[in-house]
Amino acid sequence: RVVVVGSVNIDLVVTAPVLPRPGETVLGHDFTQVAGGKGANQAIAAGRAGGSTALIGAIGSDAFGVTLRARLAGAGVDTSLLRIRYGASGVALIVVDDGGENSIVVAPGANATLVDLTAPELDAIAAADVLLCQLEVPVETVTAAAVAARAAGTRVVLNSTPVRELPDELLAAVDLLVVNHIEAAGLTNLPVVDVDTGDAPDGAVLVDALLESVPRAVLTRGADGAWYGDRDGVLEHVPAPVVDAVDTTGAGDAFTGALAVAWGEGRDVVDAVRWASAAGAGSVRRLGASVGLPGRQAIDELYAA
Ligand code: ADP
Repeated sequence: RVVVVGSVNIDLVVTAPVLPRPGETVLGHDFTQVAGGKGANQAIAAGRAGGSTALIGAIGSDAFGVTLRARLAGAGVDTSLLRIRYGASGVALIVVDDGGENSIVVAPGANATLVDLTAPELDAIAAADVLLCQLEVPVETVTAAAVAARAAGTRVVLNSTPVRELPDELLAAVDLLVVNHIEAAGLTNLPVVDVDTGDAPDGAVLVDALLESVPRAVLTRGADGAWYGDRDGVLEHVPAPVVDAVDTTGAGDAFTGALAVAWGEGRDVVDAVRWASAAGAGSVRRLGASVGLPGRQAIDELYAA
């Protein structure tokens, strides 16, 4: 079982010919309302990948909260530990222009109130195979969850996004860190773009630097797949299956959710990264972060190809 501790937002998305400038009103095309937030996205990805998944998070007492719970449950996520807080749910206001450029404001709402983990929440973490966290809820909560997980023998997977410094106590509890190259550069103080060559630093170099802080690390690199390394001396590039990419939004969430499921099922970690790469690749074939998420069978097919 995978327990996710993380954010839940409603994404209010308007497509428009151009992004509005300050003070400007533009006439948009369509409006959609989808579940978002890294916690919800990765819980949904894990649920779609066929893993038994529960989400510890906070939704508001507004109508968005009702919608969010239904969307999560519809994806097979156990919502019995979802807190309802009086007030607003987390909301992301998103405008996407015809060129695919976007502009986003997030009001965390109930997500900011996810503090002081309760006994049932801690029990669920202790009973899980994998705890999966990101950094869109208070870092003290993520740290407390990770420390409780580690003490109970639950593996801790941290997708360290958005970029921020991590408390030593949290780093010490992480079993597997998952980052993209921008997040990796932020954590290691290596440049995002190599000043001499103009290229991003080599995946092996970044993973090696991450292993100074955590015992196992995965670096995702879009269509290039992922790098995995650990302190036992394993360092491998895992290619991604070749697919026609339509929308790469949410590839990292699909990857991370599937990785937590596969590792929690006891698969070898490099094999779990390979399966997660298939899930990430599967997610980019369709438009929409959560609509395009591949199910277990689709992941298996890409993995086998
Ligand atoms: P993020 O969304 O966090 O930036 P990435 O873009 O690195 O994450 O994508 C995560 C994973 O999804 C990659 O490691 C890869 O396995 C898969 N993936 C992403 N984009 C593509 C693509 N265009 N083709 C195939 N696989 C992809």
